[in-house]
Amino acid sequence: MARDIDPDCPHPTPARAFTEALDRTTGDAEPSRLDAYALIRCADADLPALLAAAAASRDRSKGRTVTYSRKVFLPITNLCRDRCSYCTFRKDPNDPGAWTMTRADITVWLQRARSQGCREALMCLGDRPETAFRSHRETLRAFGHRSTIGYVREACEMALAMGLLPHTNAGLLSVEEMRLLRPVNVSLGLMLETVSPRLRARGMAHAHAPDKEPARRLAMIADAGRLSIPFTTGVLVGIGETPEERVDSLFAIRNLHQAYGHIQEVIIQNFRAKPQIAMAQAPEPTAVELARAVAVARLTLGGDLNLQVPPNLSPDDHRLLLRAGINDWGGISPVTCDYVNPEAPWPEIAALAATCRAEGFTLRERLPIYPQYMRAQFLDPALTGQVDRLAGAIREGTDAFAAH
Ligand code: SF4
Repeated sequence: MARDIDPDCPHPTPARAFTEALDRTTGDAEPSRLDAYALIRCADADLPALLAAAAASRDRSKGRTVTYSRKVFLPITNLCRDRCSYCTFRKDPNDPGAWTMTRADITVWLQRARSQGCREALMCLGDRPETAFRSHRETLRAFGHRSTIGYVREACEMALAMGLLPHTNAGLLSVEEMRLLRPVNVSLGLMLETVSPRLRARGMAHAHAPDKEPARRLAMIADAGRLSIPFTTGVLVGIGETPEERVDSLFAIRNLHQAYGHIQEVIIQNFRAKPQIAMAQAPEPTAVELARAVAVARLTLGGDLNLQVPPNLSPDDHRLLLRAGINDWGGISPVTCDYVNPEAPWPEIAALAATCRAEGFTLRERLPIYPQYMRAQFLDPALTGQVDRLAGAIREGTDAFAAH
């Protein structure tokens, strides 16, 4: 586990210890946990060497292609039984701005998405609101459902019927719920966020979020592995964890992937301070701190894993993040905002492609299931035809923004 280090510790890893740790991580050798602790605390002067090692690892496996998914973001409901200190998405039923999308809402947005060439339908919602709110149970009953996940499954079926591929992130799910969603989703997601139970303590980011108990999230990701579900997870940077706890979270993800082989992508997401949140005064991680985390993630997880940073949360740092070892920008929507960070607009895809080109990369569209998971073990047979068709459309160049 993490050493007991002050998160604000001003002392970086001494140059010699950094060099020794990096030397042990040459080629495709993964760092030990202690070496990863040393790397993530590197001095600014050592940052170029850390980034170069991470970028080389990415280049060996991924070459110079960076991907994104053209998506529509469908916030099925923003009701949530948790209260994370950094969240502006969640609402109570009587709050202004509380919603649960009707079938008509879902249809309208799917139609807009289709007309704009989207291929991913991201279903994103709060954690199990029916256990906290009677009015939500009544809404579900009026829709003909007993659970939010039952309604999400219907929304996924609607998306498939409109030619889009669903990816659902609905918080903590049971094995039965994942079994229900698997035949209508090409992948599922749950941010691990952190393995630090410390953040569940009073005054910390997850004090009022029982679904953020790390052991429960690790258990769900393992269950998804046993169900052979292509899975998206990741860590949050800057919610009160130490750099060593970031490393511990990355090692936990690595261990799950080594056990089940189902982690199709890992997101490194930076905390953004907003006036409405309990953590309004908390410092945001700097670009360099985020780059350190990305580089150590690349070295820890290996060159082969897909590593993503949301481009709208670091609009001025795309080139730095490419140099730190990412190979994916995640979902970008031409039709909806990022409802979790509505103040942060998506980049124009053409502009992002130009930035990638300037750094020597080609930006390409991908589906919400990565190519290495498009096989019988990971994909329900009912979805194979649709996935093949859309993958073919991308290959044939309907991606207007692929750099030449
Ligand atoms: S971050 Fe997710 S789980 Fe936490 S309050 Fe917001 S919607 Fe709920």
